[in-house]
Amino acid sequence: MAFIKFLGTAGARFVMMEQLRASGGVWISSGSDNLILDPGPGSLVRALESRPKLDPAKLTGVILSHKHLDHSADVNVMIEAMTAGGHTKRGAVFAPQDAFEPEPVIQKYLRNFPERLELLEAGKEYRVGEISFNTVRMLHPVETYGFNFKINNRTVSFITDTAYFPEIPDCFRGEIMIINVVLTERKPEVFHLSVPEVADILSSIKPQKVILTHFGRRTLTANPQKIADRLSQKFGLEIIAATDGMMIEV
Ligand SMILES: [Zn+2]
Ligand SMILES: [Zn+2]
Repeated sequence: MAFIKFLGTAGARFVMMEQLRASGGVWISSGSDNLILDPGPGSLVRALESRPKLDPAKLTGVILSHKHLDHSADVNVMIEAMTAGGHTKRGAVFAPQDAFEPEPVIQKYLRNFPERLELLEAGKEYRVGEISFNTVRMLHPVETYGFNFKINNRTVSFITDTAYFPEIPDCFRGEIMIINVVLTERKPEVFHLSVPEVADILSSIKPQKVILTHFGRRTLTANPQKIADRLSQKFGLEIIAATDGMMIEV
């Protein structure tokens, strides 16, 4: 069975800092492969407290879309967990170059713990066992990538933190589409997607399922599921708002 579990749905600093929503990232599992994408604050605890438990010792990959803390705060501890504190050389770590230098979020002492450490670059293909993915460079203040994952013969796209750009619908063609929607109103100067921009994206694509996540404070106040329902009616698509702990089968 392949599944995706949301260990957090917080977007933007205040939702994370006040833990209005958890910020543990997304767990992706297919067969014996387990990936954590964007292990923000609390990722380790959220995984261990998950029912059934998600065991970080069974991770085979750790992926950072970018180095902002809401995506990376638990990255070192997840690498330690994956590699039994460095005793077992295993697993792969994928991150943008600027997560290593000049201001590392992945500490130097554990960089040789995993089997592989790969730099993310735009338009490249990567693989962890059964799961492969390619990358799209996003528009964000630090080096950031979005992803198209191939899981269980299906494509799952992650439109991560980014300002709107017109190529988004062409770059992400997943049957399942996961979109970080931080804002209720367009604010290009903060480099995050808003609800009207998500509507622009959805007007030209027809995914089977859309999941909204990474909510900012105003989006939470406006009720993410109501936003999802309105978009769903407008476009005739299945659109849901992620909640902490939500799991979908792939
Ligand atoms: Zn973020
Ligand atoms: Zn960010």
